[in-house]
Amino acid sequence: MDSYEIVILGAGISGLSTAAFLNKQGKETLILEKRDKVGGVLSSKEIDGFTFDFSANSTVEKYESFQKLIQWAELEDQLLIANKNASKKYLYRDQEIHALDGPLSYIFTKLLSFKSKCRVLKEPFISPRKEKEDETMKDFVTRRFGQEFLDYTLNPLVAGVYAGDPKDLSMQAAYPEMAAMETEHGSVIKGSYHTIKAKRKAYKNGAFKPSKNIMSLQKGMNQLPKRIAKKLSPQLILKSKVTKIEKVESGYIITYTKDDKDYLVKAKKLISTLPAYKLSKLLSTMSPSLSKELDNIFYPPVATLNLGYHKEQIGRKLDSFGFLVPEKARLKYLGALWSSTIFDHRAPKDHASFTLFLGGSRNQEILQNDLRKWVNETIKEFSEIMMIDGEPKTKCFKLRERAIPQYNLGYMDFKKELDLFHLANPNFIISGNFVGGNSVSDCINNAEKIAKSLS
Ligand SMILES: Cc1cc2nc3c(=O)[nH]c(=O)nc-3n(C[C@H](O)[C@H](O)[C@H](O)COP(=O)(O)OP(=O)(O)OC[C@H]3O[C@@H](n4cnc5c(N)ncnc54)[C@H](O)[C@@H]3O)c2cc1C
Repeated sequence: MDSYEIVILGAGISGLSTAAFLNKQGKETLILEKRDKVGGVLSSKEIDGFTFDFSANSTVEKYESFQKLIQWAELEDQLLIANKNASKKYLYRDQEIHALDGPLSYIFTKLLSFKSKCRVLKEPFISPRKEKEDETMKDFVTRRFGQEFLDYTLNPLVAGVYAGDPKDLSMQAAYPEMAAMETEHGSVIKGSYHTIKAKRKAYKNGAFKPSKNIMSLQKGMNQLPKRIAKKLSPQLILKSKVTKIEKVESGYIITYTKDDKDYLVKAKKLISTLPAYKLSKLLSTMSPSLSKELDNIFYPPVATLNLGYHKEQIGRKLDSFGFLVPEKARLKYLGALWSSTIFDHRAPKDHASFTLFLGGSRNQEILQNDLRKWVNETIKEFSEIMMIDGEPKTKCFKLRERAIPQYNLGYMDFKKELDLFHLANPNFIISGNFVGGNSVSDCINNAEKIAKSLS
């Protein structure tokens, strides 16, 4: 049996970037990946001259770790930064899309009624909640900002981030900074003011100031995991499905299946970046309580619909990141990114491309429906908003039955179990997009933290 210092399970962006940061520290790893390709949910393809992404189209540069990884991967010349007009976002209400471009735009927007705007301005004067227990985002936002603000602002925004539903999402797990603003400053608006002030002071004292740029790569988001894998290739075994993990005195024995044969490897340190529901099965004997909590993490279905048109077909001015749709609108999709407006090189000359997201927590019934009909209705609804004439020149549809982990109410119970597991198993690190944030930037930042903890 081969023996390794560190074995990483899963070659999505979490697993690969952990291996990359460890490699930067001079540490060798072995990565085991079930599929015949890397990137996990990150996948991109060039079709008819369009570059389509089938999950993340971009990520926001929130941490220093993103640039460090890009440098290690020698991809600086491949980076794309979103065009200026991508800072403008639209939210849908009453058959129209309403622009939001910075906090002041909330004052003038027709997205919210005068009554709702007054209700939002009352927020600093609303007493903080006394109970310490977690609550849903729906309860938090209605309590502090009112129902209309929840329905037409936060509801579509969380659909854009988590494909989630505010009535299920946990405030402490999904939006801990916002929850803390109420506890520490008595109000979100007051808390935001203090946070901005504290950050400005920290930046003056030399703390890293995130660019908050929206980033991608010339060939789509999958270019990043592909390049990392190329640089690490001898340490990566594809088509190897992990089927068993056993704890032994000096580490862990991992069984994986490749070409119908079972193999064993020994790891002194083990890092799992497998989806929660996959890891749950592997931990059913070692830790039944954590296994149960992992299984409780809900992953709704999410589909991407990539559309390519000739610009002459589109009546609406392409001047934004795209728009998000509130649940109340009852449309067939969650929102649309204006992909070729955000980044150059996404569509052939005189063409435009869009990525629409379907499904999510609010539309789980997509799984039981006639998908062809669902897609056609989506295109019809989208064409009306965008004033599009005719059919798309190119379209591509991809459905993931279990797509994005939800940081729902009850997540803090999982977190407690996870902390207990890590105390009992200091050489078995559980990571991935269901721990510490689900954006690509979060996954990369967590990877760097893990590598540092092993240095
Ligand atoms: C539709 C969609 C849109 C998104 N949009 C954005 C966005 O705009 N911006 C953003 O920043 N993020 C976005 N995200 C989130 C982000 O893309 C993901 O959270 C992130 O890529 C997850 O990476 P991961 O490595 O943690 O997990 P995964 O990508 O799920 O990787 C896990 C890996 O483990 C492997 N595996 C599973 N079982 C086994 C086994 N038994 N043995 C071996 N290997 C196994 C899988 O094959 C996979 O490669 C989006 C996600 C989705 C689905």
